Amino acid sequence: MATTSSFDVSTDERTDTVDVTDHVAASIPDDVETGICTVFVQHTTAGISVNENESRLRDDTEGFFEELVPDEGHRHDQLDGNADSHLRATLVGASESIPVEDGDLALGRWQSILLLEFDGPRSREVTVTVVGE
Ligand code: ZN
Repeated sequence: MATTSSFDVSTDERTDTVDVTDHVAASIPDDVETGICTVFVQHTTAGISVNENESRLRDDTEGFFEELVPDEGHRHDQLDGNADSHLRATLVGASESIPVEDGDLALGRWQSILLLEFDGPRSREVTVTVVGE
């Protein structure tokens, strides 16, 4: 069977990280034991990543993308001034797929599902699709 649901996440800063693991876990239907869960953000300036939710690493990651992609000097800035946000989101990607085993997300001990915001603060919609049985 396949199910799709979505939830909203609020971000607080222009560059921000929100742990959405609990939201995603709650989206797995009770009758799915084994399958695959895809987490997808329907935006062009935010991304989804699986990594460790540790405060210093969150700061390092945000700083890494800010260093990697300069704030200014891009052509898209002539349109709405947020090319840096789009480029950072492109590097992260819009989705991740996580196995479902025994009815739960089969994440490693240090893995969390993170929404990476690059043009906040704003509200983001995350879609969770579960295919399994
Ligand atoms: Zn734009």
